[in-house]
Amino acid sequence: MPSSPRPIVFLGTIILPDRLLEDGALVYAAGKIIASGPRSTVAIPADALVQVVPLGGYLAPGYVDLHVHGGGGADYMDGSVAAVITANGAHARHGTTTIFPTTTTGSPSQISAMLTSCQAVARAEATTQGARIGGVHFYGPYFADEKVGCHLRSGRRDPDPAEYREHFERGIIRVATCAAELPGAEEFYREARRHGCFVTCGHSDASWSEMAAAFRAGMRHVDHFWCAMSSVPSIRARLGTPSQGSMEQFVIMHEEMSTEVIADGCHLSPELLDFAFVMKGAKRLCLVTDANRALDMPPGRYRFGPASDGEWFESDGRVGFQPGAGLASSVVGMDTMVRTMKKNTRASIVETVRMASLTPAERVGLASEFGSLEVGKRADFLVLDSALGVERVFIGGEEFVL
Ligand SMILES: [Zn+2]
Ligand SMILES: [Zn+2]
Repeated sequence: MPSSPRPIVFLGTIILPDRLLEDGALVYAAGKIIASGPRSTVAIPADALVQVVPLGGYLAPGYVDLHVHGGGGADYMDGSVAAVITANGAHARHGTTTIFPTTTTGSPSQISAMLTSCQAVARAEATTQGARIGGVHFYGPYFADEKVGCHLRSGRRDPDPAEYREHFERGIIRVATCAAELPGAEEFYREARRHGCFVTCGHSDASWSEMAAAFRAGMRHVDHFWCAMSSVPSIRARLGTPSQGSMEQFVIMHEEMSTEVIADGCHLSPELLDFAFVMKGAKRLCLVTDANRALDMPPGRYRFGPASDGEWFESDGRVGFQPGAGLASSVVGMDTMVRTMKKNTRASIVETVRMASLTPAERVGLASEFGSLEVGKRADFLVLDSALGVERVFIGGEEFVL
């Protein structure tokens, strides 16, 4: 639907951040929500175009993905505008309306090319190109050597102020990751905070005391819980006895810490998804796809990261993996994460959708712009069927053709 000068109203069951609103009305005009509430209380403009959500379906906020590498055959690290548009489009088809393209390990020039192409798309953004860029997640390359996972090991390094300052100065980075135990990590976190970033620790074997120092420097989140992170046994192997706390205990113990899960049903078992939800709650747990270029592609062999020299992995259509070496991130979209979380945990539909929309928006400090169906926010929303399948996607009030 092209953007209409007339207000548009959707009638049906609306998923709000704290409750399900049956018989609700959502009104938007010029790309922004102008009214949202019970149908009986919302003044519907006389000239409004009225649409009705099919019975049993839902009106949900568009999903927000903080950790995502690519899709539709493209990885953001390919470093081209075409790759960014392809991946943004692929994720919009799965309900993501705001995306944070995520770097892998790689050379400074590869990361620079990724930032340049994301900036070009973010500036020129037409909603028909797919999910809007909320900012870049500067993720690789500052990982612990033994925790690089499926990333190319030769593309990893310790934090380099000359490098990251230049990246931060561009103004597009909104989420910044570094392993807490690396030399210079605290300086990296402080610089990231100065640039308004949400700061996270990942691909790390950090101990409790290293996490505590990182927390003092502004770190508030851990990437993909239980994947490429420390545990009590890993810290014992690294630092001996007495056994010390790890990233896992630190996140569970600190209310201010948030984390994220890859809820594709392949990375984490149902009880771990439920455990993460019960421990952290819907306001501190985010759903992320961590999807790579194999999203919506046939099973086969692909590169994780840059097309030129990224690490090889295989996709069987359900998940990415490296034979003999474990999983290599997901190959499914946010709609699958939402359905898997709903099916496997005690989280309600309201809590599940919150973890894929408002919670990530809040964590990065952008919840006044998007993340829920509330007045003043961008008209980013989804029409879902009763099984939480994505039927229609609206970005800034314009329908994205699936
Ligand atoms: Zn990772
Ligand atoms: Zn990742």
